[in-house]
Amino acid sequence: MELLFRDDPYLKSCRARVTDSSSAGVRFDRTIFYPEGGGQPGDTGLMRLSSGAEVNIIDAQKHGDDDQDVLHLLAADSPVPDIGEEVELQIDWERRHRLMRMHTSLHLLCSLVEGDVTGGQISDGKGRLDFNLPEGAPDKTWLTENLNDLVRRAVPVSVIWASDEELDNTPELVRTMSVKPPRGSGRVRMLQIEGVDLQPCGGTHVSNTSEIGRLEVGKIENKGRQNRRINLRFASQEAGS
Ligand SMILES: [Zn+2]
Repeated sequence: MELLFRDDPYLKSCRARVTDSSSAGVRFDRTIFYPEGGGQPGDTGLMRLSSGAEVNIIDAQKHGDDDQDVLHLLAADSPVPDIGEEVELQIDWERRHRLMRMHTSLHLLCSLVEGDVTGGQISDGKGRLDFNLPEGAPDKTWLTENLNDLVRRAVPVSVIWASDEELDNTPELVRTMSVKPPRGSGRVRMLQIEGVDLQPCGGTHVSNTSEIGRLEVGKIENKGRQNRRINLRFASQEAGS
């Protein structure tokens, strides 16, 4: 399956051909639906059948460990398309864009906090990262100000590819202990926020930090002796948050 969101996370719709179809889910030859992974939830949206009927897609999930195999889940009692049928796929763009903004924000947070990341979660309107911080977490106000400074600076965000060897030779690039970067294809997808952050990531991000908007650090929680959970949200309350 061709994963169109990898090269262009701004695609809101596409044509696709059904390759597998059952009440358990639908597969296509290509998709713009990001499947849940790396702490980012799966996309929601709809498919428009050749008859014109619209069917809601309520989630997208990887099938097993195969990154290329995305199962599109339908609500119970939805009509299922025929194999070979050409449909139009459309994601809930407003929601996805909020997820992209929050995902990119977590990279900014990562750049400001020393210590390995031990976990993380992105949801609609908020996100969090857990850090191993024996010395304690940085000040909340300091963090909020520095995050918003990075947003204001309008830093370009891009994807670059590194070889497995380059990654092996620079272990400090892997900040996250909980999510192993996808390996084996000989190259690793790296998310670069110019001069700010560089790390392996398969998620969807905005192309410039200015798109994120104002951020607020929420609660900083103690989760175990050395583990600190830093919660992040958009400063203005938005739909879904
Ligand atoms: Zn990322």
